[in-house]
Amino acid sequence: MSDHTYRLTGETGDWEVVMGLEVHAQVVSKAKLFSGSATAFGGAPNTQVSLVDAAMPGMLPVINEEVVSQAVRTGLGMGSKINLYSRFDRKNYFYPDLPQGYQISQFEFPIVGEGELECEREDGSRFNVGIERLHLEQDAGKSIHDLDPNSTYVDLNRSGVALMEIVSKPYIRSPEEASAYVTKLRTLLRYLGTCGGDMEKGQLRADVNVSVCRPGDYEKFRDGGDDFSHLGTRCEIKNVNSLRFIRQASEYEARRQIEILEEGGKIDQETRLFDSVTGVTRSMRSKEEAHDYRYFPDPDLLPLELTEDFVDQIRSELPELPDAKRRRFVEDFGLSEYDAGVLVSDQSRAAYYEAVAAGRDPKLAANWVNNELFGRLNKESLGIGETPISADQLGKLVALISDKTISGKIAKDVFEILWTDGGDPARIVEDRGMKQVTDTGAIETVIDQLIADNPDQAAQVKEKPKTMGWFVGQVMKAMQGKANPQAVNEILRKKFEL
Ligand code: ADP
Ligand code: MG
Repeated sequence: MSDHTYRLTGETGDWEVVMGLEVHAQVVSKAKLFSGSATAFGGAPNTQVSLVDAAMPGMLPVINEEVVSQAVRTGLGMGSKINLYSRFDRKNYFYPDLPQGYQISQFEFPIVGEGELECEREDGSRFNVGIERLHLEQDAGKSIHDLDPNSTYVDLNRSGVALMEIVSKPYIRSPEEASAYVTKLRTLLRYLGTCGGDMEKGQLRADVNVSVCRPGDYEKFRDGGDDFSHLGTRCEIKNVNSLRFIRQASEYEARRQIEILEEGGKIDQETRLFDSVTGVTRSMRSKEEAHDYRYFPDPDLLPLELTEDFVDQIRSELPELPDAKRRRFVEDFGLSEYDAGVLVSDQSRAAYYEAVAAGRDPKLAANWVNNELFGRLNKESLGIGETPISADQLGKLVALISDKTISGKIAKDVFEILWTDGGDPARIVEDRGMKQVTDTGAIETVIDQLIADNPDQAAQVKEKPKTMGWFVGQVMKAMQGKANPQAVNEILRKKFEL
């Protein structure tokens, strides 16, 4: 058992959790998967609907090449196998917000095959999640039930918007890992520019599959080449739309299943919904009620056949991805894995950091970006895009600390001034007389005066050298924090012959 094994204890012994996620990621593209309609968020209902999206008889879908590129880009970014041949199928079911009566999806032949994603737990340890596949499909519209007590309205703006469904293998072993996996996936999608990742806007949502088993069963499942007979029956929690809810829902679901099993019951494979208000999952439909989708190839669409050149072109344009960037920050800048991880978790953070660090002390730059700047931004609920201090300003501040023009303590004051009033760091330091005093003569004068004024304290330092700190504090106070602390310590030690 590794330290990371998530164990739940019941009356009949220990249990473990097994999870697999199906993540729906809205593809970044101006147009829908098979029509030219706009995909922007927040449009007035039914203003972004073409005849294709409304499923008027006789309309023909036309594949959006940009969406295909985005799916390939995502597959390459995940290190997955790109399938040069893939096919669109009709998944047939009736729903009021699905005017076609079927969803165009990919079933047997997805555009992207197997891959693997390296993720990170909160304590910094890493784990891999196998990816089963990535396929393209259409989103449905939205039923609106709360506008009128007697009628349901339908908004088709989302109808036909391109989604990538990314299906993981059941290699996720705890609610924490599930959240870490989605976090990593979201970071990667954002780096690639293939999904905005805003869960509140529904750009990323997850179907969370949960089962429980006894210790040792999961290892048998893996050792047997993914022999599912060793795993428990899963339940699928539909459409969970925040990281916190993913954790809450899977935790609740695991405990619910354990309770049933401990009482001698068995788990029905079913689809469940998470109620974020009460924190419980409830049944939506059982396996017996599961749809028979009658998948068949869409006769309106040719199979998708990609050339090696098309894929190579996209590969050659991939940006530097988070893992590579983290390694570079560790190797080239000497940052800790943790600091580098925080910086690369967001592309604009990483870019900001690189601008601050350029030509400066990279570790000092990382401290200022991670601790002072991000700390302050978090406190004020601001994103990096809203920072009042530019990378150029912060970089200049870091340079002033490095060349000892100001102390780290004074730098915090300059930071405050930059935050509220802006300006050029060197100017601020100059105009406000904040320069560090390294002139030993000036410091010595202050020290001599302090020793003369405080003979008792001075006598004590001779007996207990540790109490010299009191003098350091007094010198700093007398010199408004501008004395070079190193110089102060040196001169004091000399005076007290320590
Ligand atoms: P479906 O469309 O029927 O939900 P998929 O194969 O598309 O089936 O997705 C199944 C998801 O459930 C995958 O993410 C997979 O990892 C996960 N899964 C399968 N079996 C189990 C299990 N026993 N416990 C937990 N998750 C599972
Ligand atoms: Mg499913």
